[in-house]
Amino acid sequence: MTRYHGSCFCGAVRFEAECDLSQGTSRCNCRFCRKMRYWEIRLPDPASFRLVAGRDHLAETPRSQDDGLDMHHWFCATCGTRLWTEGNLSEIGGHFVMVCINALDDASEAELIAAPVHHADGARDAWADPAPETRHL
Ligand SMILES: [Zn+2]
Repeated sequence: MTRYHGSCFCGAVRFEAECDLSQGTSRCNCRFCRKMRYWEIRLPDPASFRLVAGRDHLAETPRSQDDGLDMHHWFCATCGTRLWTEGNLSEIGGHFVMVCINALDDASEAELIAAPVHHADGARDAWADPAPETRHL
């Protein structure tokens, strides 16, 4: 387990989080993830997430199709960097935090290249299933 430091492009928002990139990351082919180019990792312990700076700069993507899910996608309102997703879904075991890998400052290129990626088939509401095509994600 590594304690990573994350931030947005302009540096207004900074956070820390513990995860192990070798344990797997995820991308998804749903409409939202395609727009946002999401690449995330779920923290084994959501309590390891700590916002260090920039609470006033945070903005949340409005959920245009309100499906009633407790899920919040945070980004920096100043520079637009996607930062993390948090929420509470019983389907995946309750409270979760998923950090955007693009925001991790001290993950090495070698770690990123080696990190396994699960491409979820969210476009068909089948997140546990592999997406049939991944080259465009
Ligand atoms: Zn920023």
